[in-house]
Amino acid sequence: MKNSLEPYEITGGCLCRNIRYRITEHPLMCAICYCRQCQHSSGSEATQVLVVPRTQFKVIKGEPKKYKSKGGSGFSVIRCFCGECGSPLFALPEGNRDLVSVKICSLDDPAAFKPNVAIFIREAQPWTSTPEKIHLFQQSLQIP
Ligand SMILES: [Zn+2]
Ligand SMILES: [Zn+2]
Repeated sequence: MKNSLEPYEITGGCLCRNIRYRITEHPLMCAICYCRQCQHSSGSEATQVLVVPRTQFKVIKGEPKKYKSKGGSGFSVIRCFCGECGSPLFALPEGNRDLVSVKICSLDDPAAFKPNVAIFIREAQPWTSTPEKIHLFQQSLQIP
């Protein structure tokens, strides 16, 4: 249960630990994205992200490199990663500047979060199996 009296904090960073970040609010959503851009930038069939308010996200060590590309939604996305070890860390969607999507596996404790939504299923590779019992969306999702 959410306890507003206790400060909320989760932390994460890249493989070489040059870059570290902190999240100070409960995630709004935990999603798996199957879009081609996420596939390419992660080198994997999909990427798993926590969506959190941008005001509650802070890089506390190092300076990530940035790469801007068009996301599946048509808006640009700025992908942030470690220039030293190459780990993808988080992305800033230009279509919604209030949010940041943080790669779950860059967290110190990825086991604490389980994706409950899958997006851009239409771009998934034919050999990908999507998890059961989660909401599937062909494309993007409007986050309230
Ligand atoms: Zn690094
Ligand atoms: Zn994606």
